[in-house]
Amino acid sequence: MSIPTVTVCESRIMITRLLDPAAVDPAVARSLAGAAPRSFWLDQPDAPEPLPALAGEVTADLAVIGGGFTGLWAALLARERFPDLDVVLVEAQTAGWAASGRNGGFCSASLTHGIGNGLERFPDELPLLERLGAQNLREIGEAVARYGIDCDFQPNGELALATAPWQLDGLDEEAVAARALGHDVEVLDAAGARAELGSPCWQGGLKYATGNALVEPGRLAWGLRRACLDAGVRVYEHTRATSLSAEGAGMRVRTSYGSVRAAKVILAAGVPGGSLLRRLGAYVVPVWDYVLMTEPLSAAQLDSLGWRDRRGASDLGNQFHYFRLTRDSRVLWGGYDAVYYNGGRIREEHVTRPATFAKLAEQFFATFPQLEGTGFTHAWGGVIDTCSRFCAFFGMAHAGRVAYAAGYTGLGVGASRFAAQVLLDKTQNHDSERVRLALVNSKPLPFPPEPLRSAVIQATRASIVRADRREGRRDLWLRTLDRLGLGFDS
Ligand SMILES: Cc1cc2nc3c(=O)[nH]c(=O)nc-3n(C[C@H](O)[C@H](O)[C@H](O)COP(=O)(O)OP(=O)(O)OC[C@H]3O[C@@H](n4cnc5c(N)ncnc54)[C@H](O)[C@@H]3O)c2cc1C
Repeated sequence: MSIPTVTVCESRIMITRLLDPAAVDPAVARSLAGAAPRSFWLDQPDAPEPLPALAGEVTADLAVIGGGFTGLWAALLARERFPDLDVVLVEAQTAGWAASGRNGGFCSASLTHGIGNGLERFPDELPLLERLGAQNLREIGEAVARYGIDCDFQPNGELALATAPWQLDGLDEEAVAARALGHDVEVLDAAGARAELGSPCWQGGLKYATGNALVEPGRLAWGLRRACLDAGVRVYEHTRATSLSAEGAGMRVRTSYGSVRAAKVILAAGVPGGSLLRRLGAYVVPVWDYVLMTEPLSAAQLDSLGWRDRRGASDLGNQFHYFRLTRDSRVLWGGYDAVYYNGGRIREEHVTRPATFAKLAEQFFATFPQLEGTGFTHAWGGVIDTCSRFCAFFGMAHAGRVAYAAGYTGLGVGASRFAAQVLLDKTQNHDSERVRLALVNSKPLPFPPEPLRSAVIQATRASIVRADRREGRRDLWLRTLDRLGLGFDS
């Protein structure tokens, strides 16, 4: 494979030529030729059989719409915390089918999409948010153990790795702030970073021993679904909620072949939830994020990486990659492009994006030249529910009978359980530290309506690409958005 030799890592940003499929390096094309267009995590021989759809009318105390992590945790925790509640969950496809079964499996303690974003938006509350986030991550681990969920939960921290000198700026300050918040973090120089994970690209970085666990997200979703069923939750798959309306003192959730009458509803449907509750649509946009999975590495290849403690990692550009090992020693490599399709419609055909896959593959081999010749077995995309403050927001509708959460912006694997707790507090009128948080009681700035929305997002994406090319320098557009507390991320 011909990898530019100027500096290996600069090749990562010489990628525009890949938008012309004819220009794809033949070796990159070969590496992708066998990749199945679906999530590796869900493409498992022991995937559970779908549950029957809802037919007819049922009643419940609590109806949960959506069988991703938010909905599954909400249903399970409802039964744990309020055992008298009769709970029904409806899922349009199968549990974990959307973002929850397609992600990188980084289960972060952060409730604020990282410490930097937390310091910027909730400086006074951050120590409390970090404490609640650490407790949430601990309780996820405890639940995984208690329910016997075989999802390879590994609370081993994470690496943040600089690929260009400008990305080293601020690492010392972040380490100081993180330590003050209780993290165990070490600043790495180039040699230290390369000793953690073998790539000629690293210029330095941060090694966190705290704050993150790796999970197999598909198996976590399936395990939670099993736990819900065992706890008495009635779960209906292939059951899309088509409307949500007040009826008497409760709500009616209409579905394709039936309906649920429930006193309270938790809406945990991600971006599509906007079709059931219009106000939600103003705050979230669907951003597609793409992922590659390699075949299992040989012992020699694994050795060549020297991946200490198998810590999940990401690099530090504005457009960043995340990468990790799996239980069977594959490498997951995702991120970089964060694609908004103008108009914001979610289409199944967007699951594959050859130009992005080729770009990701080229960047992968530039980062790990020792893995030349490795093939990818899976290549897929999924929808991130991006909001302008990058972390979940919460709300109530229909006179307090419906609670919703969305907007995790690419860091919802862990935060979704915290959000589920908030949604239960709210629907069950339970006072807690959580429901008094500014994070819970404030909203992000809304996105403008289409077609302005597309124009603003594409202009922002272009500025972000430029910033990475200009040593991180942000142009007037990004600086203006920064001042307004607005942003676009994945
Ligand atoms: C490629 C990718 C990589 C990511 N990597 C990470 C990561 O490493 N770490 C991290 O923390 N986060 C990551 N994320 C984000 C994370 O996956 C999400 O924040 C999290 O899974 C959100 O869970 P959810 O339950 O809110 O939403 P979803 O998982 O989207 O679940 C919503 C569910 O609602 C269902 N639904 C929608 N409409 C209806 C309806 N009308 N009726 C019934 N059901 C409906 C959907 O079918 C879906 O199953 C990533 C996301 C993607 C796409």
